[in-house]
Amino acid sequence: MNEIIIGIDLGTTNSEVAVVQDAHPVLLKNQNSVILPSYVGIDQDGALLVGEAARNQYAVYPERTIKSVKRLMGSGDQVEMAGKEYSPQEISAIILKSLKEIAEKQLKQKVEKAVITVPAYFSDVQRQATREAGEIAGLEVVKMINEPTAAALAYEGDAHVGKTIMVYDLGGGTFDVSVVGIEDGVIEVIASHGNNHLGGDDFDRKIVEHLLEHLKEEHGEISLAPEAEARISRAAEQAKITLSDNPFVTVKEEYLFEKDGVPVHLDLEISREEYEEMITPFIEESMEAVHIALKGANLTASDIEEVLLVGGSSRTPLVQQYFEKEIGLVPHCEIDPDLCVAAGAAVQAGMISGEEVSTVLVDITPYTFSTASLQVNMQSMSYDMVCVPLIKKNSPIPVKKSEVFYTVHDNQEKVQIEVYQGESTVPSENILIGEFMITGLSRKPEGNEIIDTFELDKNGILHVTAIEKCTGKSKKIEIDNAMAKLDKKEMDKARGKIGELFSSQSDYDIDGEYVVVDEENQEETKQGEDAKEAVEAEALIKKAEALMDDVETEDQEELVELVEAIRDALKVADGARLGESMHELNEVIFYLES
Ligand code: AMP
Repeated sequence: MNEIIIGIDLGTTNSEVAVVQDAHPVLLKNQNSVILPSYVGIDQDGALLVGEAARNQYAVYPERTIKSVKRLMGSGDQVEMAGKEYSPQEISAIILKSLKEIAEKQLKQKVEKAVITVPAYFSDVQRQATREAGEIAGLEVVKMINEPTAAALAYEGDAHVGKTIMVYDLGGGTFDVSVVGIEDGVIEVIASHGNNHLGGDDFDRKIVEHLLEHLKEEHGEISLAPEAEARISRAAEQAKITLSDNPFVTVKEEYLFEKDGVPVHLDLEISREEYEEMITPFIEESMEAVHIALKGANLTASDIEEVLLVGGSSRTPLVQQYFEKEIGLVPHCEIDPDLCVAAGAAVQAGMISGEEVSTVLVDITPYTFSTASLQVNMQSMSYDMVCVPLIKKNSPIPVKKSEVFYTVHDNQEKVQIEVYQGESTVPSENILIGEFMITGLSRKPEGNEIIDTFELDKNGILHVTAIEKCTGKSKKIEIDNAMAKLDKKEMDKARGKIGELFSSQSDYDIDGEYVVVDEENQEETKQGEDAKEAVEAEALIKKAEALMDDVETEDQEELVELVEAIRDALKVADGARLGESMHELNEVIFYLES
C-alpha cells in the first residue's frame, strides 16, 4: 500500500484537507463539514478552540481569537491571544494539526506527510514560514504548490493537454488571478495579480452598512452590543450567500437591542439588484486585475482557453456575468470553488505517493435550463424572445436557482411559464421540456413580481415553481427526464411545438426588460404592436431614403429593394417578413453610416 500524503488548502478564511481515494480526490469531513474556518481561539476556561467554535467566539471575544493569520506569515510579527504571544507559524500550526487529526480520524491511520498550497504571490520567506508551520504541526511538507496550480490539477488531472487557462480566486479576504500554462505535465503560473485585502468580507461589510443605515432611519442613532453586531454580520453573510441563488432575501433578526425600553427587530428585504450595486466597484477592481494579469503574461483574453473559478466568493453571479460580458469567456465552476484547491493538493499528493490519480468526480448537468422571456434589442429596436438561463450547463447537481420576472399588463391574472433545455438564447433552437400557467394572480399594476425557481435534483428531476411574490401564491411542476437527451423524433416534435408557439410571437406585448405572457391581453396587444411596428418601419424607410443620394449605385439598389420589401410586408401584414426586412435594412444603414 502506498503511504498516505494528504493535500491541504491552508486558507485565509477557511482551510480544507483532502486525499486521493479510488483514484479521485475526496475532501475529508470534520463533523458535518469539510470546511474548517481558519480561526484559532482560547475560551474563557483556557481551552483551545479551532474552526467553527473559534469563529463563533471571535465576534464576542476578539482578544481571545485569531483570524486571517495567513496574512502575517513570514512577517516576523507576533499575535496576541488571551494575553499570550504567538508567532503566525504557531497559529497556522494549530490549524494544520487540526486538519491532520481530521484526516487521521477519517482514514483511521497515522498521517505524517502533506502537500500544502500557498498563494502564487507568496515570497520565499512566506513559503518558509508555511513549511515551518507544517513541521510544528508534526507534518513533513513534501511539497508546496501554488494555489492556482492546485486548481488546475483538480480540473486537469495529469495535465498533459497543452493549454493556457486563467484561475480567478476570490475568497473571504483575498483575491488573486493567475494565468497558468499547462504543457507536457508541467503546470506553471505565468503571471499573477491580486489584492490581499479584497474578498467576500468586503461584500458582507457593504450589507452590514446597508442594514445599519436602515436601523438608523427607523430608530435614530443606535449603539450596538458586540453580540448584536455579531448577529448582524452573520445575517449579512447569510444574506449575501442567499442572493447568489435568489433575486431577493429578507434579513430578519428578532430582538436585536432595546431602544427606550422597546425591543428593536430587524426585518429588511434586499434585492439582488441593490446588492449588486453595492459590490460592483469590488468586482470591477477584480476585472482590472484580470487585465493586468493578462498583460503580465503578454496575452489577450482570446488566448485563454478556460477560466476556473476558485474561492467561495466566486459564486457571486456578478463575477460570472462580468467574465461573460466584459471578457467574453464563460468560466468553469463545476468543482466546488471552496474545495477546488484542496482537491488539487490531494491530486499532487497522490501523484507523489504513486497513486493512480484522476480528476474530481462531480455530477453536473450537461444542459442549460432556461425560461423564455421578451427582451428589448437595443440595436435593431425590435423585441426578441430570448431564453433566460436559470441553471447553466456544467452546474454541479443538486442545484437550485431563482430569478424574478415581471408581468406586463395592469391586472394581469395569469402567466405562462415555459421551460427549455439547451444552450441557445433563441427559444426555437432549444427544446421545450415543460410549460404551465399560473393563474389567479392579484390584480396589480404591471411589474407584478413572479419568482421562478428551478431545482434540479440528483435524479435529474427538474422541479419548477412560479410564485407571485406579493401573495406567495404558487404553482409547481416536475419534469422527470430533464437531463435525458431527446431522440431525433422527440426533438422534431418539440421543435414543431415551439415553432407553433413562436408563430404568434409578435402578439406579445413588451414593456421593460423581461416579459411574461398574458393570453387574455394578446389581441389588444397585437393591434398596438402592429401599429408600433408600422411607425418604426416608416422611420426606417425615411432614414434609408435620406441616405440614397450619398451612396454608391450598388448600395442604392440594395436600399431600394429592402424598402420595397418592407412596404410589401406592411401591405399584406406579414409580420415575419416585415421583421426580417427591417432587420436587414437596419444592418445596411448601420454599415453605410459607419
Ligand atoms: P474561501 O476563502 O474561499 O473559503 O471563501 C470564503 C468566502 O466565500 C466567504 O466570504 C463566504 O461568505 C463566501 N461565500 C461562500 N459561499 C458563497 C456564495 N454561495 N455566494 C457568495 N459568497 C460565498
